[in-house]
Amino acid sequence: MDKAKRAAVIAGNWKMNKTQAEAKTLIEGLIPAVKDADCTVIICTPFTDLALAVEMTKGTNIHVGAQNCHFKESGAYTGEIAANMLTEIGVEYVILGHSERRQYFAETDETVNLRAKAALAAGLKPIVCVGETLDEREAGQMETVIVRQTEGALKDFTAEELSRTIIAYEPVWAIGTGKTATAEQANEVCALIRATVAKLFSQQAADALTIQYGGSMNPKNCDELVAQYDVDGGLIGGAALKPDDFAAIVKAASK
Ligand code: PEP
Repeated sequence: MDKAKRAAVIAGNWKMNKTQAEAKTLIEGLIPAVKDADCTVIICTPFTDLALAVEMTKGTNIHVGAQNCHFKESGAYTGEIAANMLTEIGVEYVILGHSERRQYFAETDETVNLRAKAALAAGLKPIVCVGETLDEREAGQMETVIVRQTEGALKDFTAEELSRTIIAYEPVWAIGTGKTATAEQANEVCALIRATVAKLFSQQAADALTIQYGGSMNPKNCDELVAQYDVDGGLIGGAALKPDDFAAIVKAASK
């Protein structure tokens, strides 16, 4: 399958930003700004904004995602949210294994895998993040880390589950730092992820998989990044909070 046949996906990761009142204003700005998109558009909001986001985006081309979910269906897990709590209110996607979750909340390859399996079982589409730190890259460990995280996240997946999954390559050193991977670096690692998936499943499954790049993507660098053969859109942090910037990235992915 060639790039043109894969689904390009632009997902905004709002992180811990926007009260409901602020979210309302942002979504009001986003709806007209991305209405002509020829790619999939997702906003991943804080839990408290999800119901509002689902309500406000009904009848538009914007899909709604969460930023995490737990792997148990219910129980004594104070502070956690189960996958079916998300699907019940109309959430379709969930970001899992973001480097901030791995760094600050002890997320591991194993818990990312458990959360992804639970998300899929509940009908959510996971956006699984993988990425190396600067130390790992400089120590020549990028490949080992990416393969380990990819294999770990997809452990025990069926081909059908893979077909509902998106992977986001997010080099930790490029997230929120203003440092972007070069288009060549982004493409190289997305291709590595695709090759890893081909070994685990099949070339056909790997060719159909949407693999995003994330890390300081903005209106200036998005054209070159999303044009890369193995880069199928982006996971966007800071620029997702500005309708014009987000819309420019969506437009680049729509070409
Ligand atoms: C992210 O948080 O997933 C991200 C890519 O952030 P930023 O675009 O701000 O680097």
